[in-house]
Amino acid sequence: MRITVLAGGVGGARFLQGVRAAAEPGDEITAVVNTGDDVTLAGLRVCPDLDSILYALAGVNDTERGWGRAEESERVSAELTAWGVGWPWFTLGDLDLGAHIARSAWLAEGLGLAEATRRLASRWPIGVELLPMSEQPVETHVHLTLPEGPARIHFEEWWVRHRAGVPAERFEFAGAEASRPGPGVLEAIEGADAVLLAPSNPVVSIGPILAVPGVREALVGTAAPVVGLSPIIGGRALRGMAEACLRTIGVGASADAVARHYGPELLDGWLVDPADAGVTERLTADGIPTLARPLLFSSVEETAAIARDAIALAQR
Ligand code: GDP
Ligand code: CA
Repeated sequence: MRITVLAGGVGGARFLQGVRAAAEPGDEITAVVNTGDDVTLAGLRVCPDLDSILYALAGVNDTERGWGRAEESERVSAELTAWGVGWPWFTLGDLDLGAHIARSAWLAEGLGLAEATRRLASRWPIGVELLPMSEQPVETHVHLTLPEGPARIHFEEWWVRHRAGVPAERFEFAGAEASRPGPGVLEAIEGADAVLLAPSNPVVSIGPILAVPGVREALVGTAAPVVGLSPIIGGRALRGMAEACLRTIGVGASADAVARHYGPELLDGWLVDPADAGVTERLTADGIPTLARPLLFSSVEETAAIARDAIALAQR
């Protein structure tokens, strides 16, 4: 089977660990990954979602902090802060910085982001092909009102520095209109046996992927069934602040509202948690076949069972 997963960072990584564990020998797993969180810091191109997924699949991620590499120091970051370079509230560990330096060097040599990503990933047998959604820079910006007045800031500044505490008035996927799907992205969607939407943030992780011209059309047009998993369980986003993003675009923080946001054209199936079992009948009647099963990624084994159920729903 060829399984293609659309994913953001940490939630996407947890789901992909399960998909990989659920796969049979010979199955091919491709992840189309959000690059809207990418940012240039200290002259280096940083790709938070690609790196979160890579480190998690390679088993070298820091599971306690939730980002970066395990057992890394922050000596370089402290030097940069002393010089006033970069964002002091966005610490990059020394091993993580190694990846950003390597990637930036390859990009400066003229390689595309897809090839740079392939080279970074080739260091570990991760069992998943990682594809940036686009090779052109697309950056999620947040329009908001700060004490000093109206402002537009990078998504990571809003998320990490402000902890999404200042209401976002609008998200802008800067550069999306002029971007093209990355190498292999459309093929991965069109040639798949099943396409799965990870329970990643619908607005700022899956949203930018869908904003790359041609991607939504490919998902609607592909013969492959497209099945999504709800990031909202019982009205709450797990391990994240997705509610704040949904509020900004006027979508309720419910499994039902997120499914309707993606819509029946895009979705051929939707998985919700038993806490939201009440919405399955109406959603199914409205053209989105919906099943309830526990959606908490409590272990890799449990996440693999969830992935198998998503694939089974796709095959129905
Ligand atoms: P980020 O880019 O690191 O913010 O990560 P993602 O966008 O990929 O994933 C964040 C989303 O994953 C959150 O909004 C959560 O709702 C969702 N999530 C995290 N853990 C779980 C889980 O165990 N089950 C489900 N269904 N969703 C989860
Ligand atoms: Ca992210």
